[in-house]
Amino acid sequence: MMEKSLSETEQDYAEKMRDLEENLKVVRENIEEAAVKSGRSASEITLLAATKTVAVPVINRAVELGVTHIGENRVQELCDKLPSLAPCDRQFIGHLQSNKIKFLIGQVSLIQSVDNEKLAKEISRLSVTNGTVTNVLVEVNVGHEENKSGIVPEQLEELMVNISSLPGVLVRGLMAIPPVCENPEDSMPYFSRMQQYYVDIKAKRMDNIHMDFLSMGMSSDYAQAILCGANMVRVGSALFGPRKYQIL
Ligand SMILES: *Cc1c(COP(=O)(O)O)cnc(C)c1O
Repeated sequence: MMEKSLSETEQDYAEKMRDLEENLKVVRENIEEAAVKSGRSASEITLLAATKTVAVPVINRAVELGVTHIGENRVQELCDKLPSLAPCDRQFIGHLQSNKIKFLIGQVSLIQSVDNEKLAKEISRLSVTNGTVTNVLVEVNVGHEENKSGIVPEQLEELMVNISSLPGVLVRGLMAIPPVCENPEDSMPYFSRMQQYYVDIKAKRMDNIHMDFLSMGMSSDYAQAILCGANMVRVGSALFGPRKYQIL
């Protein structure tokens, strides 16, 4: 791998800082427009900035500009950033391995990526040990994609029932990353399906299962997600510019 010269890095950085304010304005306008179209107000939609690979000063500038929620994908990266992050709501949105859970307990307000009972059980166990309850979203593999995280829709209810009895975990909603589509409109059937699962599970009124958040929509399709009922969108590159590499 080639070493980057410092000046190049600094240039990148200054550019990101400059663009951020305008990017945020555009994203907020789009959120507002989609919210109104779906019969809601922008205040009902949580904008979560997806901050993987973004340097802390840039994240803190986003917080200064009014971003209230951030989500990180990697436990190590999150832990490295935590001590210097401005006050904001920190969440975990990446794939989570059991042996890393301990670093998240008490450090994040929400783990968005629970997709199996074993993981939920371990989060519960460590939460109880720490005298806390951890809020989670259940991630759904809405497109039935192989090699993708998330519980398949057919097994969603069973997983909910099993998590429902765990003392250290509170389910707060659902999260999904639909298949990559050429046009953002093509994602809408997936988003609508998620909205249906969200409503169906809510109607069952299970213990410890609260449907407060439907987290779906990223830079390319957050407006479409909101039109289909999302109340949390996770936006990275539309705020911070393209990433040099991809972590999902
Ligand atoms: C990176 C990431 C996002 C944001 O992706 P963009 O396309 O940059 O907006 C959202 N959700 C998850 C889980 C991510 O990993």
